[in-house]
Amino acid sequence: MEEKIANHLIEALFRTRQPNSLHPFAIFEDGGTLTYANFLDGAERVAATLRNSGVAPGDRVAFQAPKSITSLQMYLGAVMAGGIFVPLNPAYTSEEVEYFLADSQPKLLICEQFRVEALRKGNDGAVRIRSLEYLRREIAAAKRPLRFQYPVARSPSDIAAILYTSGTTGRPKGAMLSHSALATNSNVLVKLWRFSKSDVLIHALPAYHTHGLFVATNVALMAGCTLLFFEKFNADAVLSAFPKATALMGVPTFYTRMLQVPELNRSLASNMRFFISGSAPLLPETHKEWHRRTGHEILERYGMTEANMITSIPYDGPRKPGTVGLPLAGVELRIRESANGREVQEGKTGVLEIKSPALFSGYWQMPEKTKSEFTDDGYFITGDLASRDSDGFITIEGRAKDLVISGGLNIYPKEVEGVIDRCPGVAESAVFGVPHSDFGEAAVAVVVLEDADVSIGEIQDFLADKLARYKHPKRVAIMEALPRNAMGKVQKSVLRSDFKTIFNAA
Ligand code: AMP
Repeated sequence: MEEKIANHLIEALFRTRQPNSLHPFAIFEDGGTLTYANFLDGAERVAATLRNSGVAPGDRVAFQAPKSITSLQMYLGAVMAGGIFVPLNPAYTSEEVEYFLADSQPKLLICEQFRVEALRKGNDGAVRIRSLEYLRREIAAAKRPLRFQYPVARSPSDIAAILYTSGTTGRPKGAMLSHSALATNSNVLVKLWRFSKSDVLIHALPAYHTHGLFVATNVALMAGCTLLFFEKFNADAVLSAFPKATALMGVPTFYTRMLQVPELNRSLASNMRFFISGSAPLLPETHKEWHRRTGHEILERYGMTEANMITSIPYDGPRKPGTVGLPLAGVELRIRESANGREVQEGKTGVLEIKSPALFSGYWQMPEKTKSEFTDDGYFITGDLASRDSDGFITIEGRAKDLVISGGLNIYPKEVEGVIDRCPGVAESAVFGVPHSDFGEAAVAVVVLEDADVSIGEIQDFLADKLARYKHPKRVAIMEALPRNAMGKVQKSVLRSDFKTIFNAA
């Protein structure tokens, strides 16, 4: 049994900082500032409010509201109160939220006022449903708790948060993240990326996803640095913050959007220490173009909700475009052929499996599903296809379930997309498999054009001498834009569903 002496995550996040520090934790778009002392005071008031509402250690506390500093205080307050924070994407409809409530069975849900009635109706009273306004009133009224009462003791293996995975197939699964998984990962990242108190990090990511909630927020808290806090990403606004900032954590879409702003140049980015990208593949062209315009090579990292961060480009040394770098300290990584379980050779693609101290503790109430995601010798099967080069750098080659098997032959969508994207006049593409009565599955490409005059025939001709015949998409379609989620990931499940009957297969 682990000894419960303190709240493991809270201790880890605030170890090096004075809680009453007047150092700014957040600077807002309107220039307003929130000190660490005031930020923490708010989080402690949340903790007190939650305790008064009957939240006991291990109880789930769900939160669905647009991003604000309260989102971060809710997260910390829930953890301080010994609870398990369950952040929900504000885009979910009330009907979707009902699923998450039924699944996670929280003691309390804090949501926007307009949802309260509908959600109370859909709920048998098991979950207390309160508005954000109610929470804010309670926070303001809460007596500042005596410091020695908070935070509630929690051990390293206790769960601090449940994050639902986007769930492109099947129902969303709640990944349980322990205090130690979150603490250890932030610790590694602070050191690797050299975050210190003097850093000013642009935080424009959503606050319900691992990237904005854990990577950005926990790293900032642990390093004691300041956040330039944006409720939403806006390319012009974020760019104009560069002279006051030292670092940015973004998804690839941030970078492609900012590249469209003519004012982006070296002088604008001269105060920045570095730029980080993750959560979706960053195209090598974006990496190179960003380098050309700003003089900075984007540092890419790879991770997932279930595992926190897994690899990163090293801070020093080559930032090879298209790769996601080396395994983080403590991560054991292997790439295996799915057919026979042998590790693949250098440069060959296989399924990425990991062991890591930052891994999740399983899917909430899904022991069988959890078991099926691990190998017999204890590796977590990430579901990503990857390869490793002679320097040990990892390249993510796509999701295993996006692999198209056509007439018994494997087609890696990323390889085909890479060739199509080189075709003059093409902006980007997505390749995916759909049922085909003859081949079992057939590859389809949807293409977004930069130049409206390019024809489908020209794109097909372009592929002719560059890809083996069996890899050619059996259908090419033009689209205005690719469907993407808030993290910039192309939603292939949407494409597969939209195109599933084009070959008239059942
Ligand atoms: P999520 O759990 O929403 O963070 O999604 C995790 C998935 O995003 C991973 O399994 C990868 O498929 C993808 N991903 C994350 N970071 C990267 C990256 N740097 N390059 C390519 N894919 C990435």
